[in-house]
Amino acid sequence: MKRIFQAFLFASIFSIVVHAQNETGILDMDEIRTPVKRKNIDIPGFGGYQVLKCDFHMHTVFSDGNVWPTIRVQEAWLEGLDVIAISDHIEYQPKSDDVKTNHNRPYQLAKDVASERNIILIKATEITRQTPPGHFNALFIGDASGYLGERATNENDRAAIQKPIDQKAFIFWNHPGWKATSVVGSYEWIDFVDVLHKEKNLHGIEVFNGTNFYKKGLDWCIDKNLTVLANTDVHGVIGYEYQLGNASRTMTLVLAREKTEAGVREALEARRTIAWSGKYLAGKEELLNNLFHACVKLKPAHFTRNDRSSYEISNESDLYFELKLKSGNGTEKVFLHPHSSQVISAKTGQKGLEYEAVTSFVRSDKNLVVEIGLK
Ligand SMILES: [Zn+2]
Ligand SMILES: [Zn+2]
Repeated sequence: MKRIFQAFLFASIFSIVVHAQNETGILDMDEIRTPVKRKNIDIPGFGGYQVLKCDFHMHTVFSDGNVWPTIRVQEAWLEGLDVIAISDHIEYQPKSDDVKTNHNRPYQLAKDVASERNIILIKATEITRQTPPGHFNALFIGDASGYLGERATNENDRAAIQKPIDQKAFIFWNHPGWKATSVVGSYEWIDFVDVLHKEKNLHGIEVFNGTNFYKKGLDWCIDKNLTVLANTDVHGVIGYEYQLGNASRTMTLVLAREKTEAGVREALEARRTIAWSGKYLAGKEELLNNLFHACVKLKPAHFTRNDRSSYEISNESDLYFELKLKSGNGTEKVFLHPHSSQVISAKTGQKGLEYEAVTSFVRSDKNLVVEIGLK
């Protein structure tokens, strides 16, 4: 009885409040607003690691971007990202007549907004030299006010990159082939990069930048044990550049033990990352293979006729896999769209089928090969 009374009391108060609001003469027509809801990007972890969705390369009005730093956080939250880095250019400040140059400011402005939304914001910057050597992102930096703003000659390249090295930053080479057609020799393993790598001051390469896949970058990562990165390098509003309703932005999948800044750094340094953009994945063979098997499941045969059995195969993730039969007797091509199932068939009595995952790259010229065990 008491409960009924409480419910009645609550309903009465509620109606008084609603009534009072109506008496202001203002009707809120909220139904036309975009609903506030975060998209969940569904990618299962494996081996004790969770998959963090990360974009480590973005710009704001504090260099040549067109949005305020907090907008980057809001976009990332809506899209289901876990970790972001705002990496405004040090040496390129085209808006400095309107926005005061302050290389620490984008991080300061966005930090609390990110923390409130459970997004890890990593302090970062883009060291922007002439090409070659080109651009480098530095993550986990300290005070950026003393970084070198001048880039007229190559003489100061080393001094410029020395700043984040001294701060023990995680440094990666950005978009290595972005001037491949206009600057001869720029899409090569140049001496400047080789020296950094030999000193252990280069930690990764941006294999995907926006909608470009720098295939040589993948080979360098595999051959020289560097971290594979995939980022947007977004300058405008993210929704103007990506069809977010159908897909996600280009991003780095980080296999982390925990969702903390230290967890992200540990995973980056241990090279546990996979590049993802649209239907494409790129990274180390073992990681891609484990990811595939965490996402794709095959049920035991549900039907057999004339020595041929049917099996249900499911993709339980938001990733996409396209398979082409490599060995065995079974369905030739399998398209595994996000969160979908389909039926494949195979000659009865085989242990398994071998497929080439044609949109998953383990080298520039080599796709992931997966074993699908038949039961
Ligand atoms: Zn750049
Ligand atoms: Zn950039």
